[in-house]
Amino acid sequence: MPLDYSTLDLIGKAARLIKSSRYFIALTGAGVSVESGIRPFRGPGGLWTEFGEPPMDGYRSFEDNPRGYWENKLNPEGRSRFGDSLSEAKPNAGHLAFAELETMGFLKSLITQNIDDLHIEAGSNNVLEIHGNKLKLRCVRCNTRFPKEGFNLSTLPPKCPKCGGVVKDDIVMFGEPIPSDVLAACQAEAERSDCIIVVGTSAVVYPAASLPLIVNDRGGVVIEINPLESDLSSICDVVVRASSGEAMPALVEALKRLA
Ligand SMILES: [Zn+2]
Repeated sequence: MPLDYSTLDLIGKAARLIKSSRYFIALTGAGVSVESGIRPFRGPGGLWTEFGEPPMDGYRSFEDNPRGYWENKLNPEGRSRFGDSLSEAKPNAGHLAFAELETMGFLKSLITQNIDDLHIEAGSNNVLEIHGNKLKLRCVRCNTRFPKEGFNLSTLPPKCPKCGGVVKDDIVMFGEPIPSDVLAACQAEAERSDCIIVVGTSAVVYPAASLPLIVNDRGGVVIEINPLESDLSSICDVVVRASSGEAMPALVEALKRLA
C-alpha cells in the first residue's frame, strides 16, 4: 500500500526535525520485526495471546536451579515455535533503513526491545538491546556476552571463562532485572539526545517507556512511527501512522532530498 500525501508530508516534517537535531537516536520494538514474519508477544496474533504468557517467575526458577534451566533448554522437545519463526526471519526494509540512517551520519544509536538480531544483521552497529540477543549468552555476574555458537557446554550450568559466574541466555526472562550495563547506556543516550524516533512499539514497558519521556522532558523532539495509537502519541511532535517497512525507507529518501 503506497503512502498517501498527508503521511508523506508528516515524514518530510520528521526528516527536517532530524536534520536540525544534534543527537538523534531511535527506540524500536516488535512492530519493526512483524514485517519479517516475527510474531509479537501481545495483542491479536500474539504468541502469548495464543499460547499463554510464560511463567512470571522464570528468572527465579533459573536462579533456584540453573542446571535444570540448561537441561530443559538443551532438550529438543522444549524448542518453541517462537524459536522457529526467529530462525527463519530476515531483515526487512525498515531494518535496512535504520542501518542507512546510521551510515548517513544521522542516527547516533539504536535502542531496541527486540531480541531477533535483525538490526545487526541489517548492518546497524550502535545497537543497545534492552532485552538481550537470541544469538548470545550472558554471565549473570559480570554481564560479559558470548556467542552461543561454540560455547563450551560440557558441564551444566556452563561457567563464565572470565569470572566463573553462571552463564544463561542473554535474553532477559520474566522477573530478571535488565542488565545494568545496558540500562545505564540507554539512559545515558536518552539524556544526550535532542531527538528520538519511536518505531513499532507502544513503549509501555519500563525501561523503554521512560526513554522518550527523558528526551521530551529536556525539550527534545519525539517522533512516533506506529500504525496503532499509543500512550506516547500525545507527547509526540510528529506521529506517522504507518508501518516501519513503509515509513522508514520514505524517511531515508526524505533526508536524502534535504541533504
Ligand atoms: Zn562473568
